[in-house]
Amino acid sequence: KVKKSGRKDGAHLKKRIRIIMGKVILTGDRPTGKLHLGHYVGSLRRRVELQNMGDFDKMFVFMADVQALTDNAENPEKIRQNIIEVALDYLAAGLDPQKCTLFIQSQISEIAELTTFFMNLVSVSRVQRNPTVKTEIKMRNFEANIPMGFFAYPVSQAADIAAFKATTVPAGEDQEPMLEVAREIVRRFNTIYAPVLVEPNIMLPENVTARRLPGTDGKEKMSKSLGNCIYLSDDADTVWSKVKGMYTDPTHLNVSDPGHVEGNAVFTYLDAFSTDQDFADFWPEFANLDELKGAYTAGGIGDMKCKKLLNNVLNRMLEPMRARRHEFEQDIPEIYQILKRGSDVARETAAQTLSEVKAAMQINYF
Ligand code: ATP
Ligand code: MG
Repeated sequence: KVKKSGRKDGAHLKKRIRIIMGKVILTGDRPTGKLHLGHYVGSLRRRVELQNMGDFDKMFVFMADVQALTDNAENPEKIRQNIIEVALDYLAAGLDPQKCTLFIQSQISEIAELTTFFMNLVSVSRVQRNPTVKTEIKMRNFEANIPMGFFAYPVSQAADIAAFKATTVPAGEDQEPMLEVAREIVRRFNTIYAPVLVEPNIMLPENVTARRLPGTDGKEKMSKSLGNCIYLSDDADTVWSKVKGMYTDPTHLNVSDPGHVEGNAVFTYLDAFSTDQDFADFWPEFANLDELKGAYTAGGIGDMKCKKLLNNVLNRMLEPMRARRHEFEQDIPEIYQILKRGSDVARETAAQTLSEVKAAMQINYF
């Protein structure tokens, strides 16, 4: 047979390579409350950057309402209501439904189906070893009464990711063990059946501080359940009162005393959020954070001045989000429409994967 045209073949090959190598970004949040600065630096900020760079084939962002129910069985209304809060946070932070697919996990029944198949590919002890789940079980005082769904959520999370053949998952450090389990399950599936699924990679924030942002109390992690959060939707007065009350350095009693920046939440936040431009605009005596740290460590810099700087840095970042949130709040039905359209698109993708999964498992009987 005669080749039709070299050019066409080339284009065809290019498309095939793109499909094989294609970058699919996927992440989500549990709609258990409004999003806070930890969510933002841990994952959301990166998603917006990736979205605007456009260097991917597909990008999915979802509200994990099914996962949220695993430790909120008695509070279904809380989850329902927070869908809209998280959607507003997404749009306020700059996610654009024209560029990425926003959807609600419960609307994609294929994920539940895939979870069922995945349950057989991982052992109870493997899930029990997961340090994040261990900590979360302790924090929730479940003791012996761990809901089955909560215990198994790393498995359903593997299905969330695999159903979309995601390659790249921007998330905080707490998600590393989840991604490890997901990769193992996918590998097992591909070995036993056929290589139809894709092993995902975590994409941690480049800024090390942002991988696990501490709370305003200086405790290990900013977390809704610990009540140590600054929310993306907090107004300027609320942010200032939270920043004023922030944990600093307990040994820094007088302004002239040398201060410590390690374990000092104000400096950790400045690490995660401030830019040289912030110094130029708000504290030109210092060119950058390193210079301020040097001066603080030497002594002579008051905590209040550092807190004022942080307050300015945070408000500069949050003000445009507040404005966008306010705009989007005017038309809530439109937000549900955005989520419906996104969920329709997501369902199509997941259904395609599931048909490949079933073919690989040879349970496509008819
Ligand atoms: P919380 O811990 O506040 O109760 P959550 O556990 O319900 O929130 P998730 O939906 O599990 O929040 O997390 C969503 C994303 O935000 C994940 O990628 C997670 O790594 C990231 N994240 C949450 N808290 C922090 C934090 N303090 N620092 C960095 N990333 C975080
Ligand atoms: Mg979590």
